Amino acid sequence: MMLKFNAQMANTPNHNEQLSGPIGRRQFVIGSIMAMAAGAAGLLLSHFHRMDHHDHVEHMEGTESRRDEFNRTLKRAERFRENPDAWWEEHREQLLVSSPQIYGIECVDEGDDLDKFLPTAGHALPKNFDVISVPGSGVQYPGFAEDLRNLVGTEHIMGVTSHKDCGACHGKDDLAVSHAHKLAAALRVPYLGHVETLQRPDYHVALGSNLRYTKKVRNIRFVEDAPRYFDATQWCLSDRAARVANIRLMLNIAYHHGFNELFIEEKIPFELVVWYDPKDPVHTKDSAADEIQEAFRQADLPDELRSTKGLLKLTFMEVS
Ligand SMILES: [Zn+2]
Repeated sequence: MMLKFNAQMANTPNHNEQLSGPIGRRQFVIGSIMAMAAGAAGLLLSHFHRMDHHDHVEHMEGTESRRDEFNRTLKRAERFRENPDAWWEEHREQLLVSSPQIYGIECVDEGDDLDKFLPTAGHALPKNFDVISVPGSGVQYPGFAEDLRNLVGTEHIMGVTSHKDCGACHGKDDLAVSHAHKLAAALRVPYLGHVETLQRPDYHVALGSNLRYTKKVRNIRFVEDAPRYFDATQWCLSDRAARVANIRLMLNIAYHHGFNELFIEEKIPFELVVWYDPKDPVHTKDSAADEIQEAFRQADLPDELRSTKGLLKLTFMEVS
């Protein structure tokens, strides 16, 4: 059974004290979940307050080809974005898992597809293969090795990878490689290689993020007509701040090293898809929404995004 929850932007009274602060009248508020017809529910998001950050929307050359790529990527994501319920019904059998998987450790990057890379690097994919995607394979999160031991178990880890031009490593390939080697050594699992050929141009094309708060759903991109989104394996991180930082990083990358101002110009919302298990007491729909809210407040985003309705979309996918 799966329900979908779409977020809507709406003017909402500032009633959440926890979020109040010296940030002005406009608040980013995720209100209580409200029941709606047909098993769906909505989240209320207010207008967003303006952060005290500099805007540095890039005006790169090659905007036209980027616009073409934007339209192609959007086309590919269309079916999911228009009707995630129907999309999930078609693919749930392939994506739902009930037993421990064998995991490759990778980045959240939408281009470092390990199911494509590993066979070319001489590593056969196990039948029950999944990935654990954390920015820079955890380069910014010191607790990652410990979490992998406790929440995954090293016997379920196939190995660790790194990739070219990693945003979490500030584009430094040597840092990406050395971190992945260190993590692999700490876990006593193999280092599986450096993904040189990314399944994306030299900028990011993710139109959203799959925030997997449950291990019951594998990497969404493993099915052919999945949207090309960032993949973030939030369930394997015990530290809330690390999960928030992941979301913040993905938002920053999408708006500064991705389609940037095209999201605003074309009025296409970046989509955060929360995959969660309603029976999980650790990662609930509400706790995930809180983390997104905090990341949004912290991220360095264009003013228009904070002041215009409908430019960010939340979709909640119940997995059970
Ligand atoms: Zn990366």
